Amino acid sequence: MCGIVGYIGNKDAYPILINGLKRLEYRGYDSAGIALIDNNKAQVYKKQGKVSELEKETATKKITGNIGIGHTRWATHGLPNDINAHPHMSMNGKFIVIHNGIIENYARLQKKLCDRGYSFTSETDTEILANTIEYIYLKGKVSAELAVRLALTKIIGAYGLVVICIDEPNQLIAARNGSPLVIGVGEKEYFIASDATPIIEHTNRIIYLNDKEIAVVTKNELSLKTITNDALIPMIQELNLDIEEIEKGGYDHFMLKEIYEQPKSINDTFRGRASQNPPEIYLGGLYNVFDKLDEAERIIIVACGTSWHAGLVGEYLIEEFARIPVEVEYASEFRYRNPIISKNDVIIAVSQSGETADTIAAVKMARELGATVIGICNVVGSSLTRETEAGVYTHAGPEIGVASTKAFSAQVTVLTMISLLLGKRRKKLSEKTYTTLIKELYKIPDKITQLLSQNETYKHVASLYKDATNCIYLGRGVLFPVALEGALKLKEISYIHAEGYPAAEMKHGPIALIDENMPVVIIATKDHSYEKVVSNIQEVKARKGIIIAVVNEGDTTIAKLADHVLEVPETLPELAPLTTIIPLQLFSYYIAVMRGCNVDQPRNLAKSVTVE
Ligand code: GLU
Repeated sequence: MCGIVGYIGNKDAYPILINGLKRLEYRGYDSAGIALIDNNKAQVYKKQGKVSELEKETATKKITGNIGIGHTRWATHGLPNDINAHPHMSMNGKFIVIHNGIIENYARLQKKLCDRGYSFTSETDTEILANTIEYIYLKGKVSAELAVRLALTKIIGAYGLVVICIDEPNQLIAARNGSPLVIGVGEKEYFIASDATPIIEHTNRIIYLNDKEIAVVTKNELSLKTITNDALIPMIQELNLDIEEIEKGGYDHFMLKEIYEQPKSINDTFRGRASQNPPEIYLGGLYNVFDKLDEAERIIIVACGTSWHAGLVGEYLIEEFARIPVEVEYASEFRYRNPIISKNDVIIAVSQSGETADTIAAVKMARELGATVIGICNVVGSSLTRETEAGVYTHAGPEIGVASTKAFSAQVTVLTMISLLLGKRRKKLSEKTYTTLIKELYKIPDKITQLLSQNETYKHVASLYKDATNCIYLGRGVLFPVALEGALKLKEISYIHAEGYPAAEMKHGPIALIDENMPVVIIATKDHSYEKVVSNIQEVKARKGIIIAVVNEGDTTIAKLADHVLEVPETLPELAPLTTIIPLQLFSYYIAVMRGCNVDQPRNLAKSVTVE
């Protein structure tokens, strides 16, 4: 959440900052702002709304300078308006700050500053930080860097920030704790950003900042230290990220592009980790924890949002194939619940960005309690990869659409591979079943390609229900998490209220909602509970509900009962989450488009949830 960008070098900073903000807009779009320094003078522009609003605002202005910072906000403290937009300037104009995170003790700091004569223009916690730095700087007559470091020792909370001091205008000061920051190293220039997407078109040489680290960059050099002043040697890594991967490539929306990328992203996710001849799963990223996995008495999957739904699929599969008890926890609940964790537990943390604040905090806690922690994540070099002892990347490629699609199917693919591998290692899965599942897994990308070609059907059904106000999603077993994920997609991007339930739970409450206006999406592909789901369909029909059923090709039983059928090619029941989710993603997508919603940047949401 919140996108940060900074530039220092010989080029015009303005276009670099604006383009960088556009790339980062998926992280927050409540407001956008920039500050550039030229001839020791600051030019600050900020505007409620999207980066395009800021661009309109600045179009006629002459903005100059080779040093600058920019921010797209996802508001935590204070309304999303012009005044609360970043950058924030300190009261005496000495410091300009952009910030991603939350200063938890801001109220106490604010009071102290008030007692010392400070007043504030915005409602943000960030402005308190800017003034805390300034107070220390003026009172202590210290350097800007020392003022920032001292201020940060007083801060409780999360931050990724970039600071400009107007008296020392030829440097940017960047620091992080909990919110991501990366630095791009160019020729006599440096870039700073929340992630590598705004940097990659300029350089692929990247430094990932760690928590409690501070970097001071001029156009010629970078110095890195801890906020307690221990010097560090910066580690420059080369990042392989293609610029095309972060552009729309002819699709109307990133979300649509990402839905259509799933055959490839799933293939990329098994590449190098599985083989067909002989059918085998390898997962080298787990090599150093195999002994722990073999001995594990329990696996706890921690995640948030869509990743939590992928975790529920993982629970079903790991229990089924490896016979290890699995719990799936919301990271936000787990971390504050004093959970019982032992050395024999393995925690699998799942996060697309690898920066989800609650998931990272849960990981840290589990490690302190002695558990083995594995990460499943999509972003190379993210915090999760650095906080875990082993893991598996989902090679889904950058996911820019705020509503997750290809990351979900890649996470499910990884969890399927983990469950198969554990099943084999624990000798709970026969060679025959193991082999059959791997062979079938290889067929999934083609089956998804086939589903994507049926988009006109999804579009048609979407056109019939685009004005619905509510929708229920039902599924059983491993398809229950798919129902949850289908409902989440719909509510996230179309703002239609939608709920997912285990199909059999319907009669314990939600059935009261069913009438002739209620669309009920039922995932009813063939498995051992198929007959029961058919009964659930009858129950909905008896109450005049509208049935949209996701079924196997040629299913005539349900076709007779349902108002609409969305057919998916047959696969093994355990792999059906990977096929059945596709019509649900496209159904939501088309509804949102027809309702005129901003599909890639739905209201109030942002990607990479770096605040609690
Ligand atoms: N707390 C800051 C604000 O509300 C930054 C928010 C964020 O990082 O999402 O402006």
